[in-house]
Amino acid sequence: MEQLSKTAKIINAKKADNAFENAFVTQHKSMYATKDHLTLLTKKAKVFLLRVFEDVYQKLGQSSIKNMKNNKFTFQLASLNFAVDKKQMLLGFSSDSFPSFNICDYCYEQFDGTSKGSMVIACSHGYHESCFINSLNKKCHYCEKFLNLGVDKNVSSLLTRLSKLGPKSNLVESLEADETNNLES
Ligand SMILES: [Zn+2]
Ligand SMILES: [Zn+2]
Repeated sequence: MEQLSKTAKIINAKKADNAFENAFVTQHKSMYATKDHLTLLTKKAKVFLLRVFEDVYQKLGQSSIKNMKNNKFTFQLASLNFAVDKKQMLLGFSSDSFPSFNICDYCYEQFDGTSKGSMVIACSHGYHESCFINSLNKKCHYCEKFLNLGVDKNVSSLLTRLSKLGPKSNLVESLEADETNNLES
């Protein structure tokens, strides 16, 4: 009974103690909590994006192929001002025909300046709408060829490795070793 009343007294004394709340609730305010701050950040982001897109627009067509050693290309990106490998570029730059600037990649005639009637597709090749739909049957043949070659190469390499394996060999290990080699080359 005495123990119980002691505990009750302690609980009663602790009732007014809001150390927990002070530590975890009132002191953890967000850095960007105010509305003014958010408005400011939104405006800053707008200015930043405007500058980026202005730069991209002004340097249209100025990107170049920087390096050509044993079929290895480096692309100098004008607006970002650094060079990247073709693996970091869109698919069209891995095909055997690089996307051209302002020219239809099928008939090689210039685009007339309006976006109507011409299109740049996801691989980064650009076509007249009529060339893409009627002549190419809605496929980019350069990129399709590149992907087909890649599939053929991988399949034949897999078949070669399978034919070399004896009955007790470990296929998974062999595949992993090959994967590592590919990444390094
Ligand atoms: Zn065309
Ligand atoms: Zn393409």
